[in-house]
Amino acid sequence: MPDDLQLPKAYDSTVVEDAIYSAWTKSGYFTPENLPNLDKRKESYCISLPPPNVTGTLHTGHAVMLAIQDTMIRYARMSGKRALWVPGTDHAAIATNSKVEKILMKEEGKTRHDLGREKFLKRVHDFANKSHDIIVNQMKKMGVSIDWTREAYTIDEKRNFAVRTAFKRMYDDGLIYQGHRVVNWCPRCHSTLADDEVEYKEENGKLYWIKYGPFVLATSRPETKLGDTAVAVHPSDERYKEMVGKKFMIPGVLGEFEITVVADYSVDIEFGTGAVKVTPAHSFVDNEIAQRHGIGMKQIIDEDGRMMKNCGKYAGMTTLEGREAIVTDMEKMGFIDHVEENYKHNLSVCYRCGTTIEPIPSKQWFINVGKEFTFNQSKHNPIKGINDGQTVTLKMLMKHVVENGQIDILPGRITKVYLNWVENLRDWCISRQIWFGHQIPVWYRGEEIYVGVDAPKGEDWEQDPDTLDTWFSSGLWTFSILGWPDMNSEDLKIYHPNSVMETGYDILQLWVTRMILMSTYFLGEIPFKKVYFHGLVRDEQGRKMSKSLENAVDPLDAIKEYGADALRLAMMIGQTPGTDTKLTDDKIASYRNFTNKLWNISRFVFMSVDQVRSIDQIPEPKTLADKWILARYAQVVARATAHYEKYEYSLLGELLRDFTWGEFADWYLEIAKVQKKNGESQTDEILLYVLEGLLKLWHPLMPFVTEELYKQFDRGMMIVAKWPVFLSHPEASEGSSNPVAQFEQLREIVTALRNVRAEYKIAYGKPIDVTIVSASSLEEYQDVIAQMAKTGVVTWTDKATKLEGALSLMAGSIQLYVPVGDLIDFDKERSRIGSELEVVESYIKRLALKLENKEFVDNAPAEVVQAEQGRLKEAQEKQKALKRELDNLG
Ligand SMILES: [Zn+2]
Repeated sequence: MPDDLQLPKAYDSTVVEDAIYSAWTKSGYFTPENLPNLDKRKESYCISLPPPNVTGTLHTGHAVMLAIQDTMIRYARMSGKRALWVPGTDHAAIATNSKVEKILMKEEGKTRHDLGREKFLKRVHDFANKSHDIIVNQMKKMGVSIDWTREAYTIDEKRNFAVRTAFKRMYDDGLIYQGHRVVNWCPRCHSTLADDEVEYKEENGKLYWIKYGPFVLATSRPETKLGDTAVAVHPSDERYKEMVGKKFMIPGVLGEFEITVVADYSVDIEFGTGAVKVTPAHSFVDNEIAQRHGIGMKQIIDEDGRMMKNCGKYAGMTTLEGREAIVTDMEKMGFIDHVEENYKHNLSVCYRCGTTIEPIPSKQWFINVGKEFTFNQSKHNPIKGINDGQTVTLKMLMKHVVENGQIDILPGRITKVYLNWVENLRDWCISRQIWFGHQIPVWYRGEEIYVGVDAPKGEDWEQDPDTLDTWFSSGLWTFSILGWPDMNSEDLKIYHPNSVMETGYDILQLWVTRMILMSTYFLGEIPFKKVYFHGLVRDEQGRKMSKSLENAVDPLDAIKEYGADALRLAMMIGQTPGTDTKLTDDKIASYRNFTNKLWNISRFVFMSVDQVRSIDQIPEPKTLADKWILARYAQVVARATAHYEKYEYSLLGELLRDFTWGEFADWYLEIAKVQKKNGESQTDEILLYVLEGLLKLWHPLMPFVTEELYKQFDRGMMIVAKWPVFLSHPEASEGSSNPVAQFEQLREIVTALRNVRAEYKIAYGKPIDVTIVSASSLEEYQDVIAQMAKTGVVTWTDKATKLEGALSLMAGSIQLYVPVGDLIDFDKERSRIGSELEVVESYIKRLALKLENKEFVDNAPAEVVQAEQGRLKEAQEKQKALKRELDNLG
């Protein structure tokens, strides 16, 4: 043991993690310019952190994202790339705005209008600042090796400049326009919502069949009759053929009004009577019909969701009150034909507050996704398949880069979802009627309008009070954090496109698509080469984690109790792209145990060698075990590296865990003790060589404990250590004479003998004799077998003759006889095993019957059926083991 070894017996993550994090920060290595051998780092690797909203604290969804991205960036850094990970936070306009509104209402009973724009915004900024600090602190606890010197905020000055520049450029290209369109309006948030900010809720309502002049038609919203301007029928509907194109006066609760009958292919012949009323001001579908046929609109619902002045005695009512009053009057006047109860339909609600959406016409800013413009190709990273100066549309660009594989999406099945979404993309409404956000860079003076990066000169200009959809600024994220719009920015040249975008699949449409739109348009580049979608984190029963269910694992609590490394491993192992993962305390605790195991293994090595040092040349193997561990280590380096390259973190974690624990610790460390006793001096070198490499392989996944242990080697910090090189190892070749295969046989013999001890309850203190048949090539490793299985007399023979009073068993393909006649009573064992077997078999029968019962399988919850299947499998394994034991007895 080295005299100067200072390594506590037990690993204490609470002490180590903070100290290690501040050492990393001090080193400056999170900033790529400070990395060693910068000139040799030709290839760059960049990730933009999906900026967390400044609305609160980090949850497990953030934690899994941080764990994955930190693993990516650490691997890239160690494998010699210019690795940059840019942090930031998102102002999340509408979310933050409404959060602060809620607090204001709860604590002071005031609305934002009571405070006024300026004071309200100050409140929002204060709130956001506080929230930001909490988030940053939490991120550090997770161990993120992110470049804090480049931290960005979606609404800081640089990003605001980028946003204004972007708006102006798109406006000049004719891609941004102002239009009166029906928008999704939340009467509570007082703002428009993008299509994908609308959620749908199935509701049981009523379907009213109303008498409508010469028609009878069905509607779930009779109050909108006040805004009707047309009736639509299908062009091939014979029933109404004569009426198409004609005008009719329709009697209503406020007197007669005029409608035009139009024939439109969007009408469903099968629905109701085949005729539908058209309210262009308050329905997307109706609005499109009206536009196709040149029919005007009549607005009757205002921004508060109330009936407008033009609704006579119903004015001022909410739409629901209006509906009730109008239905009552219609009944009195004989307009109701009949009412269908329990009519199931989808209600659109605000994704923020759950209020029913009212489609209303409103003057808004839009991005035209179908308008043609001239494509500006990138000089650095041109998009393949499109030429500079070619006429394109935004929709075309978005489709092109994914369809021809320039952006690779993991898991692949999401590619289809993406393309389908782009196919159905409508113009993007980018204005929001809230105060917190990037104010639209448009100024008005009377009839004059000015669009610019900065305010116009002169008096009396007034800026558009609306703000931009939060996804407008986060859509610029991959390049606005790299210095854009300065096209000479070094960062932009080096780090764009980003290498990978890692995020949750729930924001594919809200965010990922927008980044692709913005980057292809502004830079003529893809924003990233790969998209990695992680799944959602769920609880043990597969439920979404939420505050109200009280099933959420708080990342900070988990870190305090088990350490960040344990939490990270629990999130990475079992996690594959697009698949939801389950996270439980037990799972995190088991990885805490693994962290401790790694500590103990390392400590054992450090204490057993004469001197801790780095071994850079592959040590010379002398024994079979040496050759085996070096060959296996070489294979593990190769496989682990491949898993890192392919983002296969679950397989990676399992591979490393199995090798560390199941091979290096359980076998080589044990054998090393024997070898050292025998004076095999190469053993130290091999232990150190494999351990150092293993710690490096683990580092991206569990950075804290590995960094702490690496100090023992005294060669700088692990965060910038060189990735273990895979050298094709002569010993790793295939074939039965290779050391791996040979050592496997040795392992089988020892395992078989250990099983004998366990199954027949023979204490380790009692040596057992063994006769090994036809395996003389292993004879020279008899001392290894003796040490690991505590054998007595070992006999090597080529003749397979069954010995009296001996167990007969197979170790792989090798026959073993273990004379245990004086240690166990064969008859008693037979009857013991026999009766255990009976119990198990009757249990299997019962389970099988249950699972054959169709009624049970069809009606029981899937988890219950699954659990029963698991039990059956377990029982069958047990049955197999007992039968083998019985066979062994002969
Ligand atoms: Zn709302």
